[in-house]
This record gives sequence, C-alpha cells and structure tokens, in this order.
Amino acid sequence: MSIKHHLTDALIMAYSAGSLPEAFSLVVATHISLCDECRARLESYDAVGGALLEETGVADVSDASLDAVLARIAGTPDEPRQPVARMKDAVFPAPLRDYVGGDLDDVKWKRVGGGVRQAVLKTASGARVRLLSIPGGTAMPDHGHRGTEMTMVLKGAFRDEEGRFGRGDVEVANEDMEHTPVAEEGEDCICLAATDAPLRFNALIPRIAQPFLGI
Ligand code: ZN
Ligand code: ZN
Repeated sequence: MSIKHHLTDALIMAYSAGSLPEAFSLVVATHISLCDECRARLESYDAVGGALLEETGVADVSDASLDAVLARIAGTPDEPRQPVARMKDAVFPAPLRDYVGGDLDDVKWKRVGGGVRQAVLKTASGARVRLLSIPGGTAMPDHGHRGTEMTMVLKGAFRDEEGRFGRGDVEVANEDMEHTPVAEEGEDCICLAATDAPLRFNALIPRIAQPFLGI
C-alpha cells in the first residue's frame, strides 16, 4: 500500500498529548495502524512528551522499571479476536473494527440520498465520526467547513481539488477549504470521516429552491 496523504503534525501532537476529541482520535489511530511513517512520527512525539514528563518530575519512573514495563507490553500476546483469514480480508483496520464491533458487513447503514449511505459511530460529544459509503462516480455536494473535517479512505478512492485519495490516505480540511470529493468509478468509496462542526453545504439553498424555481 502506498499512502500519499498523511496526518498533520498538529494532529499527531494532539493525539500524543491525549487532547483530541474521541472522534478524531479514532481516525488518527486507524490511520496509524496502516501507516509506518505516521507511527514513527507519533513515537517521536511520545518520546518528547515522555522526556518532558520526566523533566518536570510528574512521571517518577526509573529507566529500569520503564524497560520492564515496555518488555511486558512487548511480550503480551495479541488477544485472539477473529480468525486470521477474516483479518486478512478485513476492510477495517483493528482500531476501527474494535469500535464497530466487526467489519464492513456489520455496519448498519442509513441512506442519506443520492445513493450515499452513512453510519454515525457513538463517541463522546465535541466531535462526530461517521462511516460514509459513496457510489463510484458520485460527487459529494460541494461544501465548506465550519471546523475541521478529517476523512480517511478505507476502500475505493475519491478525488478532489487536492488530489487522489486511496486506502489509508487522510484528508484534513478546515475553514478555508472548499472541495467536491468525487468517488472513483468502479467501486463504492468507503470513508471514515470526523467533523467537529456541522458541514455547511453550499448547495443547500439552491436545492431547497429547486422545486420552486422549476429546475
Ligand atoms: Zn501517515
Ligand atoms: Zn469536506
């Protein structure tokens, strides 16, 4: 897999510090489970954070006992969860699978129009995270953002003004960005998307007006 679009430093730092809302943490953890590059960046932030804690004396852990803890973690066998064959074919990386309690087939989708389906995942308030399924060749409505939107592709691909996003790629959009993601032809695009404010659909007014305008 070749991931081209990665997490921002700000997101990795906030994740390392434990200050991201749960919805964003899930997307970060899901990306990191597929991306060696961002995992390495996270480890370096974790190391810096750990060093800061040691300096301020908050964490009173000697090197020897820290090593023992790390060795214990490394030596812990993975809990048996699902058969290996199933894991190999899984669309959802482990952090997301744990959240959903299964894989793509276990998602309870709701139709939101235009063939697009979504499933909102339960998280603490402050930000929302949902799974989206967009039919190949279909455009999501053109929209701006009132906050931050983080979208990770799990299956298929989409394109927008920023480029092509395939499995593992993450797009981070903020207030100054407007884009029109279009799912690539051939298969449904399944994404995990977190937002910390409702999207503002530019097309909302024209769409409401359509029946009245006769277009
Ligand atoms: Zn990455
Ligand atoms: Zn967007």
